[in-house]
Amino acid sequence: MEVLEATTLTGTHTSLDEAALENLRSQIQGELLLPEDINYEKVRQLWNGMIDRRPALIVRCIGTYDVVQAVNFARENNLPVAVKSGGHNVAGNAACNGGVMVDLSVMRSVYVDKKNKTVRADGGCLLSDVDHATQIYGLAVPSGIVSHTGIGGITLGGGFGWISRKHGFSIDNLLSVVMVTADGQVRHVSKDEHTDLFWGIRGGGGNFGIVTSFKFQCVDIGTEVYSGLLVTPFAQAEPYLRFYRDYARQLPDEMSAWIVLRNAPPLPFLPADIHGKLVVVTAFAYLGKAQKGEDLLKPLRDFCSPHGEMLAMHPWTAWQSAFDGLNAHGMRNYWKSHHLKDLSDECIAQILHFARHFPTPHCEVFIPHMEGKPSTVPSESTAFAHRSTPFLMNVHTRWDAAHDDQKCIQWARDFYEKTKPFAKGVYVNFLSEEGEERVKDAYTESTWKRLVQLKKQYDPQNIFRFNQNIHPPA
Ligand SMILES: Cc1cc2nc3c(=O)[nH]c(=O)nc-3n(C[C@H](O)[C@H](O)[C@H](O)COP(=O)(O)OP(=O)(O)OC[C@H]3O[C@@H](n4cnc5c(N)ncnc54)[C@H](O)[C@@H]3O)c2cc1C
Repeated sequence: MEVLEATTLTGTHTSLDEAALENLRSQIQGELLLPEDINYEKVRQLWNGMIDRRPALIVRCIGTYDVVQAVNFARENNLPVAVKSGGHNVAGNAACNGGVMVDLSVMRSVYVDKKNKTVRADGGCLLSDVDHATQIYGLAVPSGIVSHTGIGGITLGGGFGWISRKHGFSIDNLLSVVMVTADGQVRHVSKDEHTDLFWGIRGGGGNFGIVTSFKFQCVDIGTEVYSGLLVTPFAQAEPYLRFYRDYARQLPDEMSAWIVLRNAPPLPFLPADIHGKLVVVTAFAYLGKAQKGEDLLKPLRDFCSPHGEMLAMHPWTAWQSAFDGLNAHGMRNYWKSHHLKDLSDECIAQILHFARHFPTPHCEVFIPHMEGKPSTVPSESTAFAHRSTPFLMNVHTRWDAAHDDQKCIQWARDFYEKTKPFAKGVYVNFLSEEGEERVKDAYTESTWKRLVQLKKQYDPQNIFRFNQNIHPPA
């Protein structure tokens, strides 16, 4: 290979010569992958099977030094940068066409400080890496519910899961990060250093640089959590959801109970004739004694007789991976999401209408109950804006074959439009590729203005543009 074609920050084509690439290769300790290299195809793959992007080059970093080299190379050659941590984001921004892909997926070391109950996790860690390391001491970091999600993307967008109502979002437990900004500087960012950046990275996504290490305060949860699933008939979904909306809002913060509308998976505790049928799943986790958890669930269990249930103490790491199988890599995905002001009767009716018309058997609607500790954090104190909405709705449109693309995407868009009147904002991490106006919905007006100024200061050329992008002002 003598020259490599790439796409610049202004969209023009450029050629990178072999000497420049060899120089980069000699500077890094990780791997430089070019399209002809064996690992190139594997590394550019993302969780969402819809995404098929071909970076000009991939820098497989093994440490902060490599990240600095990659960012400097990109800036000096006028190239944009995409960052891959877990590669989970539905919008597929971890890969790009023609630019530099910085792959952090081999940077997965985790160090737990048992005495201070803190953990440092490399920028490419998966949630399972952090859970397994912290659970040795019965500790955890509040984060998402699928163990192969990357700590990078989820944290920079907010990060919530089973213990967030009690202990806050991931960003509420973030103490500091080490990050490489567009100028190639390594910055230690915390409430005491680069406080403006510390505000922005807690909800502003990957717009301001590449985080190579996160430090979190952990919470004590022990190694088991009372958790499980209650699967009830879809025929009673309407009264059940009306009951649920009031039930959920009076629960103590130790309990999280989320609704999932989907076709029943072949779970052993469900009768065979229910498998593949539309059902209402209530998934829950309770931080406390099993008996108290069971008492809290009683009103739901009394409301209608379930098809089946699985309620038990589970190892935390097992419960954290309970949804992994249903979220396997490689399926085609398109998501639409809203924070919901309330689950009004009209909103429930719309949700159920669309659930009755799932375009494929793999689709589902997730309705987590939010509130609790995150709502007590002042909304302007981090870039994550919508902390007080009681519910969130995430429409997971999932399918196998490209010929279903149009049908599935249209269904999701119609669903989104019909539920818009009940919405107030969106969670940035659940956005598909929807354009800048929609990205703004993840923020308040004043938060957005502040993020734009921060972007201008730290990334005026918009090198980090493959994300839910905040454009620097012209
Ligand atoms: C199956 C599934 C389940 C999910 N469940 C939850 C959940 O329970 N709770 C929740 O809050 N979210 C959840 N999410 C959403 C999740 O938070 C986002 O998809 C998130 O972006 C994934 O992070 P990642 O590192 O795996 O993704 P990637 O695709 O690798 O990264 C996404 C973007 O984040 C940025 N980024 C990632 N790492 C870094 C870094 N180290 N430095 C700088 N920028 C970086 C980049 O801009 C990148 O484009 C889920 C997603 C999926 C697909």
